[in-house]
Amino acid sequence: MFDSLIKFVRDQYQTNDFIPLHAPVFSGHERDYVVETIESTFVSSVGAFVDRFERDMAAYTSSPKAVATVNGTAALHAALMLAGVQPGDLVLTQPLTFVATCNAIAYCGAAPVFIDVDRHTLGLSPTALEKWLDEYAYIDSDGICRLKLDERVLRACLPMHTFGHPVEIEYLVTVCKRWNLVLIEDAAESLGSIYKSRHTGTFGRLGILSFNGNKIITTGGGGMILAGEELGARAKHLTTTAKKPHPYEYVHDEVGYNYRLPNINAALGCAQLEQLEDFIACKRELASRYAEVLEGSELQFFKEPEGCRSNYWLNAVICESPARRDVLLKSTNDSGVMTRPIWKLMNRLPLYVNCLRGDLTNAEWLEARVVNVPSSVLPGWKA
Ligand SMILES: *Cc1c(COP(=O)(O)O)cnc(C)c1O
Repeated sequence: MFDSLIKFVRDQYQTNDFIPLHAPVFSGHERDYVVETIESTFVSSVGAFVDRFERDMAAYTSSPKAVATVNGTAALHAALMLAGVQPGDLVLTQPLTFVATCNAIAYCGAAPVFIDVDRHTLGLSPTALEKWLDEYAYIDSDGICRLKLDERVLRACLPMHTFGHPVEIEYLVTVCKRWNLVLIEDAAESLGSIYKSRHTGTFGRLGILSFNGNKIITTGGGGMILAGEELGARAKHLTTTAKKPHPYEYVHDEVGYNYRLPNINAALGCAQLEQLEDFIACKRELASRYAEVLEGSELQFFKEPEGCRSNYWLNAVICESPARRDVLLKSTNDSGVMTRPIWKLMNRLPLYVNCLRGDLTNAEWLEARVVNVPSSVLPGWKA
């Protein structure tokens, strides 16, 4: 069963060994830059590579500011705090995401509200969001969006660009504006993904990226906050222990966080970023090969939404039924070709089971059918 898919994947990676879902590739200046940090002794919280990584990432994404953090979850936590999310608040997000999205909301003492996704983006549905707000929310005399039920504040909206495929972000911008919600983008998976010529993560007031080991580029562990000049400066302050600049004195003016990215990790990031466009070209080529080989089969290859350039971080197929999904997962994994089902919906996790939610028909449908297939950059890739 699914033998031709297994053969196709083996042909791509030219191996009979185990094929993981996603492995990093270090084919550039990684070793040189990392050795440079060791030789300079600046491996930790200050160093030239952190500054360079932030500058390069700001330039790449056309974000006024980019602030490096120790991981993507920390970036999300800081972004939510900077958006003004407070204990008792509600944050609208999608149930089809990695748990970090919701955990960051919980770190703020706030709670997620789960809104359905669209089947053509796998991300937060602006129409479902609008419908839910029309029914359950109102704007008070101070302009604050609140829940009709108990007047709790709906502070922010946190969509996620699933597997690198951009959500309908312009429409979400409009809905958030109308309802006075702060828009924050979880672009952890979508570095290099473009929506109508703008980089994902730069539409909201804040956006975040991740450079975990399984992401499109990695720093070992790492993340980035994308923001405008003013919020970006505040992000830097908050994530670096809120220390007032001074040559030797320790003065901290608020409860800050030690969320900064070590220089040794930033060195890896600088080298990886140099190769990002090559990685994306490879992934897009691989995606088009998957699409071609699966054409007319029972598996529907998930293609980027219209008007977007997706980084195709993780390729995904949609199975015709949950039963066939199970057969696909078993036969591929038994053959040493790693595949994984999409995340269990956040509203099913015990920790978020009591959170508010709208109708989740699409998320439930996708949860039972979506499978990720191997997506690493191909060996010996040259654009
Ligand atoms: C990877 C990821 C994160 C968190 O990133 P870390 O760097 O692993 O903390 C957050 N949200 C989503 C959607 C992710 O995929």
